[in-house]
Order: sequence, then structure tokens, then C-alpha cells
Amino acid sequence: MATRLSFLGAAGEVTGSCYLFDTGSVKFLVDCGMFQGGRDAQRKNRRFAFDPRQIAFVLLSHAHIDHSGLLPRLAAQGFTGPVYATAATGELLAVMLPDSAHLQEKEAEHEGTTPLYSVADAQACLSLLRQAEYGVAFRPLEGVPGAHGGVRCVFRDAGHILGSAIIELFLSDGKIVFSGDLGQPGRPIVEDPTPIEEADVLLVESTYGDRNHKSLVQTLDELAFALNDTLASRRGNVVIPSFAVGRTQEILYYIAELRRQGRIPAAEVYVDSPMAAAATRITLRHAKLPDLERVRFTESLEESMRINSVRAGAIIISASGMCEGGRIRHHLRYNLPRPECAVVFVGFQAAGTLGRRIVDGAKSVRLFREICPVRAKIFTINGLSAHADRDALLGWLGNFRRPPRQTWVVHGEPLAAQSLKDEIVQRLHWRAGVPDGGDCVAL
Ligand SMILES: [Zn+2]
Repeated sequence: MATRLSFLGAAGEVTGSCYLFDTGSVKFLVDCGMFQGGRDAQRKNRRFAFDPRQIAFVLLSHAHIDHSGLLPRLAAQGFTGPVYATAATGELLAVMLPDSAHLQEKEAEHEGTTPLYSVADAQACLSLLRQAEYGVAFRPLEGVPGAHGGVRCVFRDAGHILGSAIIELFLSDGKIVFSGDLGQPGRPIVEDPTPIEEADVLLVESTYGDRNHKSLVQTLDELAFALNDTLASRRGNVVIPSFAVGRTQEILYYIAELRRQGRIPAAEVYVDSPMAAAATRITLRHAKLPDLERVRFTESLEESMRINSVRAGAIIISASGMCEGGRIRHHLRYNLPRPECAVVFVGFQAAGTLGRRIVDGAKSVRLFREICPVRAKIFTINGLSAHADRDALLGWLGNFRRPPRQTWVVHGEPLAAQSLKDEIVQRLHWRAGVPDGGDCVAL
């Protein structure tokens, strides 16, 4: 029997990454991600389209919650197999899954429902992690009693965030390649995505399948201008809402670089997010970061509150990235009303979030049940992304020496996925399609 592949998430959308493989003798998952945003997300998160007890193992591309966030629920519902991930992914999960569980518990309490999973579930599922090393082939079923092998796989560096992987799968039906989330080449901290030359079936992400990013040079010029304008000319503080994992470390890197090149004045840099501090410590174990001597990581609430009295010369990096929760809201409260300060947005702001309202030019916003006037200068820097843009995706696809038998374009909003698919068909003359969520195909 041919292996069957079901697209259970991140098909026609960017969250909920989950692909079910059924070889006839074994069922396994690639990713087990949480659906985020949108009306249906909560409903889709609550019901698996399979019996978790029948899943033999999980291959995990990286730590982002939209790829890993339902693992604790999978384990709580009877999955007991190994979860293969790189060492760095495992370390990030040990911070991120309990944090995600904590948010679930808080939200459920607020809404009077049961949480998707508890902190205890998250802790329990971490014990299922097994380490995969880049470039080293392994058999996921080795040592599983009663299982007969046949499945072999190799993780390759995807250059997206620390520990992220492209997954090569060798089945009796041929070689399957799952791109995972691919990084933009030429970025610090992470390597460039590994070129892959062969696949029979390819699943490729398409988050930015219809767009290119601004150049890094232009992006850093914009960042340098925002910092100089605020710190040197107007003598205020710069507040940067940032995702704790990946983006914060990247911003720290660029600030150190700009400082080293003498392009920005010396400033006190605060990283005010326990999760960002933990993610930075993990990053330092696996990658090089420039001198962080002038960076202060504030863990306790007292330390965090002390930043409120700093009137000028500070760069305050805090989470959440879209200002929906976390300590960033306190820093906005103190700095948004002051015209000499600035808020610098360095990540995507989804519709409906506080960050988006500020970016869209709101004259005032609600913070802690009070009206807060927006008088600070607002900068939006769009060139930083952990995802490959359209040209980078096509460049990576250009490494294949022969067309895959079939290419599936996944992990993109419908327009982005369709646009990349069209380009693959017209430019590369490959067979490509965009699956719908729930579609099942024979390989
Ligand atoms: Zn990701």
C-alpha cells in the first residue's frame, strides 16, 4: 500500500502545522502545532483528526508554538512515543511549552472553560523528547517494541530559528522532503537554509510566497535612524516590542553591530522578559552573539518596574511582540504619552492586536483600563523576518537537480501559497499543488 499523507494544519494558512503519514504499518506526525488567531483556532485545537494512541512517533521541525504547541495535548490524550527534535529545539521547548500551558490555563480560567493542557501536561510531554542531530540519519522506530522499521530520516538546518530543521524522510515510496519554516539567507545567529538536491515528494512553506523583504542594508539604516533620532536628537527612550525567541536575539545582535560601527550612541539596553532572557541564554550555548555587556536582563517584577523611572537614553526590548500581553504594556504606558520617546515595531502586527492599532496611527489606546495618548514617534521596520521571502524560496527550490514527482505548497495564506505554486509551475515546470486543510493524498 502507498503511504497516505494528510494535511491536518498549515494548509491554506500559516498556523497549526501538522502532517500525518500512514505507511499502512505505522502512523506518525511531522509537527504538532497549535492553530493561532482566527475564529476557528480554538475549535481546531480541541479535536485531533486521529487517535493519539495510534501515533508511533513525532518529527518536530522547530520550537515555534504553531509547530509544537499541541504536543502536550497529544501526550495527555495517550501518545507515548518519542518526539524527535534537535537539542536546541528541545531546550527552547522546555521554556516555551510550560509558558504556553500557563497562558492556556489563565485564558481558560478567564473564560470559564477547561485549558487545552496544563503546565503538568507540558512538563510530562518534555520527557518524550529524543535528540536528532543535523546531518545524522536515524530510524525513529529503532528500539520501539513490536515496531518494524522502514522509516529513516535526516534533519538539516533550516536557518529559520535556533534549532530549526528541514526534514528528509526515506520511506518505501521514495524520499519525502519537508522544508519546515525556511530562514532568509544572510541573517545572523542562524545559518543559511541547507540546500537539498533531491526529493520524490516535496512539502515547501510559502509564508512569503508572494513577496520580497526589504534589503538588510535598508532595514539596518531604518533601525539606526530610529535609534539616533530618539536617543540623540530627541533624548527619549526607545521601546521595542519583540518576540522573545529569535527576534529579540537578532535585535540585540544588530544593536551591538550598529554600536560597534559607531552608527548609534551608547545606550542602556534592557531586555525585560523572562522568556527572552531564557531564550538568549539558550542561544548563547549554541551560537555566537556579540558583546552583551551593556545589556541588562531583568527577571523580577521589581527590576522591571525600576525601568519605569528611566526617562531617557534607554532601549527597552520586551514581549509580547504584538503588545497583546506581558511587560511590554507597562513600558508602553510610560513611554507612549511622551513625544520625545519612540516605539519601534520590528515584527508583523496582526489585525486586531494593540500593536496593529498603534502602527495604524491610533491617537490613543486603552492600557490597563485607562486611555493612553499616543504622542511617541512610531517606527515600523518591516525588513526583519525569520522566513525566506519569495526570491529566497525560489532560490532554495533551484537547488533541486531534478523536479520532485509532486510538490505541495503549504504553510501560507491562500494568496501567498497560490502565487508560489504558480511560480513553481511556470518557472520551474514542476508539478505543484496547494492542498486544503484535511486533504489526504497517496504518495
Ligand atoms: Zn516558525
